[in-house]
Amino acid sequence: MEYLVAVLVGLALAEVATLITTIYLHRVLSHKAIRLHPAVTMFMRFGTWMLTSISPREWVAVHRKHHNFSDVEGDPHSPHIEGYWQIMIGNVYYYRREADQDDTMEKYASDLPFDRLDKALLRNGTLGFSLTGVILMVLFGVFGSGWWGIVHGLVALTTLAVVYLLLNAAINGAGHTFGYKSFENDATNLKLLSLVTFGEGLHNNHHARPASAKFSAFRGEVDMAWPVIRLLEKLRLAKVLSKVDEGWEDHRRRLPTPITIKPTSGISAVGASSTKD
Ligand SMILES: [Zn+2]
Ligand SMILES: [Zn+2]
Repeated sequence: MEYLVAVLVGLALAEVATLITTIYLHRVLSHKAIRLHPAVTMFMRFGTWMLTSISPREWVAVHRKHHNFSDVEGDPHSPHIEGYWQIMIGNVYYYRREADQDDTMEKYASDLPFDRLDKALLRNGTLGFSLTGVILMVLFGVFGSGWWGIVHGLVALTTLAVVYLLLNAAINGAGHTFGYKSFENDATNLKLLSLVTFGEGLHNNHHARPASAKFSAFRGEVDMAWPVIRLLEKLRLAKVLSKVDEGWEDHRRRLPTPITIKPTSGISAVGASSTKD
């Protein structure tokens, strides 16, 4: 029961990290679909640093290259090229392999500044993530002995890391393998994954309109990051730069009805005139 609290804290932090990733790293920096107030930008930068220690420039470069070469030679993490389980288990390896390429960084993220704060935060690898671990240990320690705090802090930190990495692997792996397609591209929509990734699971929609700040396109699809973005906009802390509700109906939509892709039997489509994998 005591450990359950630590696991729940880790899960909550993984969800916060996923929300920051989809809004800041993905929709703001990679696709420039939203502009954030400098105060929110700073919050997101520190959130990214403390919960994931990801370099925004690296994430953006790898992701933009993924859009440029989706599931063809050059895609940093395609389950169709590398294999489904390779991406599900080794997503971090494929991410690092691409992020370590200087020419990828130069070509795909040269528009992003690398200021003094970036240098200070990212010079020490996973310092931010480690700091989160120390804070968790201290907080848990308040409610018990020092040893109790260390163990529970580690459980929460491990849960954060494992769940965050798994969700990201699922978007790159399962999000290009299983689910339904509304648009003709190589990605797929998974409603359940979308619920736990703040809309990222609607990956087929996203590949159809990468610049849209809203990932849900049709009835029954839920992008939980969207109400957060709308709230920020109402508070004048964000501005959506793309037309989110226009163009979904005809934007590269060539599949008359959504198709379902199953792992063993390939694509099963009712009434679909064309499929492309
Ligand atoms: Zn994708
Ligand atoms: Zn994208």
